[in-house]
Amino acid sequence: NLRGGIVGLPNVGKSTLFNALVENGKAQAANFPFCTIEPNVGIVAVPDPRLEVLAGLGKSQKITPASVEFVDIAGLVKGASQGEGLGNKFLSHIREVDSIVQVVRCFEDDDIVHVSGKVDPASDIEVINLELAFADMAQIEKRLERLKKGRVKDPQVKALEELEAAALQRINEALLSGQPARSVSLTEEEKKLVDQLCLLTMKPVIFAANVAESDLADHSGNSHVQQVKEVASSLKANVVVVSAQVEAELTELDPAERQDYLQSLGVEEGGLASLVKSTYDLLGLRTYFTCGEKETRAWTILAGMTAPQAAGVIHSDFERGFIRAETVAYDDFVAAGSLAGAREKGLLRQEGKDYVVQEGDVLLFRFNV
Ligand code: GDP
Repeated sequence: NLRGGIVGLPNVGKSTLFNALVENGKAQAANFPFCTIEPNVGIVAVPDPRLEVLAGLGKSQKITPASVEFVDIAGLVKGASQGEGLGNKFLSHIREVDSIVQVVRCFEDDDIVHVSGKVDPASDIEVINLELAFADMAQIEKRLERLKKGRVKDPQVKALEELEAAALQRINEALLSGQPARSVSLTEEEKKLVDQLCLLTMKPVIFAANVAESDLADHSGNSHVQQVKEVASSLKANVVVVSAQVEAELTELDPAERQDYLQSLGVEEGGLASLVKSTYDLLGLRTYFTCGEKETRAWTILAGMTAPQAAGVIHSDFERGFIRAETVAYDDFVAAGSLAGAREKGLLRQEGKDYVVQEGDVLLFRFNV
């Protein structure tokens, strides 16, 4: 399963946001086995309005959305890379996630202590990024030392090691100049070699700017948010504005009350849905659907996957026994009103094993068992 790690300095609202994500996920799809796997890991539904539409047309009894796992990774403080706080334990948790959601405090509240004394997003982001960069540099140094020993005789392996060492040098230079590893352009081959190190700053990042409820509708007056946006753009990262507090309160309300509360704040939704969606999009993921009377379901694939590979996401037997896929684009399906309608209009296509599945395809697999 796909994992997003929630990081940030203490008291910025990570746990509040994490709990809201998990509670909200539960509420969104009662049929889905959402759970908190460990105290700090939760499975969250990826909101997708197309599911309701398809389920309506397909008269499905059940909707199963795509999901993302969120991990609440507490314990990052200044000096973590040197073993302060939870230190290395914290860093090893980050190594296991696919993307990082960095929560940044953009709300003022004198009752809630800020670890460095005042709300200062640019400095907070820098503290965290420095720790991640230090950890990466230590990792790279260790690896370079091993590569330098040059014990390998096989010329082919040796060439690969040289390629890797050169790429790591370039990444190290970027880190020294304050840029993350992901900013360094690498060839596919170099990327494969470097990926073995699971560098922290290679992972895509979303900044979640956590604002007070009064700033959710209009945050143009919140200079903290502007600061986060500036830093994010220099690091080629995305920003989502959320209010952890509002999200936490929303989970306590029934749907009608939620609507009233959101309206009173002047927004249509809290930032949570867009945070989950951004995490999903950031990873270059695509969604295809299966739609039948039993269930309408969203399946997650990587961009570029072929029809048999996409079938394999459902079950490996589907991939092995793949014959062909009947497919219709989401918009065509909706326009035709049903699968039968799409077939009549010639919108339902027969695709073979080389077909690259497109975002929003509704698929029906034919396979041998
Ligand atoms: P963590 O240490 O980053 O996990 O932070 P928590 O989620 O535990 O939040 C720390 C404190 O800040 C708690 O008392 C929260 O209620 C409070 N808090 C979190 N988000 C907000 C917010 O958006 N506005 C305000 N005023 N307080 C918040």
